[in-house]
Amino acid sequence: MVELTVGQYQSVPVVLDERSSAYDALVSLFMNNIGTLFVVSEGGLLEGVLSRKDLLKLAVGNTDMHVVPVGVVMTRMPNIIMTTPEESLWMAARKLTHHEIDGLPVVKKLGEDQYEVIGRFTKTNVARAFVDIGYGYAGGEDNE
Ligand code: ADP
Repeated sequence: MVELTVGQYQSVPVVLDERSSAYDALVSLFMNNIGTLFVVSEGGLLEGVLSRKDLLKLAVGNTDMHVVPVGVVMTRMPNIIMTTPEESLWMAARKLTHHEIDGLPVVKKLGEDQYEVIGRFTKTNVARAFVDIGYGYAGGEDNE
């Protein structure tokens, strides 16, 4: 049996500097047509994850999105659920369902609690793999 991996299905990550405003994050979500952004430090290390709901919470509080930095609203390290290109697709999908989240940063470990973001793995990637399996695993035939 072929073991499908995250690396075969991951997408390109969209990252934002930790000093960016919540407004910048909102624009980036729309422009890139995605639901989850990864926030990185100046040195490029993973600092946090920002989702649509994190930004919606700000709207409820009537906060000025231009002045609030993403660092205030994101979910922070070390509470980030991650995956690697080598991890099985099944295990990564299980992390999504178990933690009830939409996406995982695909990372490369650089040191103790230091991770570089090298990809994005979301429910959409799981759906694509599911379609491939339905075709008898054509190896990404329907990945347009
Ligand atoms: P949405 O906000 O679009 O429903 P999620 O369900 O993925 O998206 O996010 C819900 C919450 O979980 C948010 O507060 C978000 O910051 C957090 N979150 C999302 N992805 C992760 C992750 N990989 N690790 C830890 N927390 C996450």
